[in-house]
Amino acid sequence: MKITPIIGLEVHVELNTTQKMFCSCSASHFHVAPNTHTCPVCLALPGALPVPNKTACLSCIKIGLALNCSITKTAIFERKNYFYPDLPKGYQITQLQTPFAVNGHIKIDGHTIRINRAHMEEDTGKSQHQPLDGQNVTLIDYNRSGVPLVEIVSEPDIDSSTLAKNYITQIQQIVRYLGVSDADIEKGSMRCEPTINLKIEKDGKIYHTPLVEIKNVASLTGAQNAIDYEIKRQSEEFNKTGQVKNSTNKTTRGFSADKGITFLQRLKEGSADYRYFPEPDIPPIAFSKSEIDQLKNTLPELPDQKTTRYQKDYDLSDYDSTRLCSDFSFTQSFEKVMGQSTDKDFAKFVANIFLGSLSAYLNESGQEIDSGKINPDYFSSVFTAQTDNKISFTVAKDILLQSYQTGQDPLKIAQDGGLMQVSDTGKLEDMVDKVLQDNPNAKADYQRNSNIIGFLVGQVMKLSAGSANPQLVRLILEKKLK
Ligand SMILES: [Zn+2]
Repeated sequence: MKITPIIGLEVHVELNTTQKMFCSCSASHFHVAPNTHTCPVCLALPGALPVPNKTACLSCIKIGLALNCSITKTAIFERKNYFYPDLPKGYQITQLQTPFAVNGHIKIDGHTIRINRAHMEEDTGKSQHQPLDGQNVTLIDYNRSGVPLVEIVSEPDIDSSTLAKNYITQIQQIVRYLGVSDADIEKGSMRCEPTINLKIEKDGKIYHTPLVEIKNVASLTGAQNAIDYEIKRQSEEFNKTGQVKNSTNKTTRGFSADKGITFLQRLKEGSADYRYFPEPDIPPIAFSKSEIDQLKNTLPELPDQKTTRYQKDYDLSDYDSTRLCSDFSFTQSFEKVMGQSTDKDFAKFVANIFLGSLSAYLNESGQEIDSGKINPDYFSSVFTAQTDNKISFTVAKDILLQSYQTGQDPLKIAQDGGLMQVSDTGKLEDMVDKVLQDNPNAKADYQRNSNIIGFLVGQVMKLSAGSANPQLVRLILEKKLK
């Protein structure tokens, strides 16, 4: 039996425009008093008319261009009708037949993932269910109602949860590079809904399990876990009966991050259920070829291009530049340190710090890099000190991390901590003697196997708290052991 997961992703990106999609209300809705950014348009009062936000439309097209899409000549807005308390109009203005961008693709880890479309729509309000005066009530905040959203729909070209996670990360980085959204999944300014079913080959027959769409995924790990759970659940269901349920209906399942499971929510509506029709209050929108060409020319450097440039300009390895460029905030900090410098040794030094001690610390503490805490002068003074053999690379890594955490001058940290590299042979000889005393069999062991010297150098380095010059220590040890 062979099982192939067929996974597609719908990714919603909330744009960071100052105004909403169809009115001039402020689009900011995080940490804002409820229902303060509203007007007749986004509250859907009778007679109010929508006016599309041009910046938002252009951002949607930029996203389309960055995803290698074709841009539609004349795009049309449509009404998607459904009832929900946080949707005051009773419909959402979106795009179905003629979105701004179609037929794109991106490449990830050697896979090509086709992009079906990137279309423009508006966000809904937010409902909050909670007890009030002894009753369970639903409170609604319309600050988010009408905030511009771009929906990016992939073709089902993804076959594992890891690839799905890398796809989402890549989309996130592309919109951050474009500067059109902060794409923060935890905060909700980027949301993803995986769709998944399985292709099962057994005894010469091919089965497809019914399609499932997963909602309420609120983190990258959540997306990965939800997909893995569905793969397991759908294959177990097949194993029980040896056949697929006789259903072509798509179902919607919620995801509980705490329990790590998905659960049935409802049968999924088809697009016919939404009674789409062209929005009569907004004319078709056409940007000229020259406007689109101009937009294309002003697109910023994207992750792939930056990766190639880092290899060329700074002589960084493919691996290092790919890792640096996979995080936009990292590249901003890296470029802040490099400034105008094209010194390749310095670039390698900085990349080693960023991808070594600094990323380990950020990963562990679950933080993103804060460019404000990166001081280019500190990096160059520590680099010079290391090149002049005043400190070891181990110390350089540690003091730059401490400096990032505390804001202190790293060389002062080294001086205060006695970490400046000791090249004073007298002091080093004392330390070597101490280590040889503690290891009385060292000389005999060395005669049998000279590799033991590595261990002894390590002991001296430990004794000196990393400040001894390791090359000198090795020379002194060799002399004494012979
Ligand atoms: Zn409004």
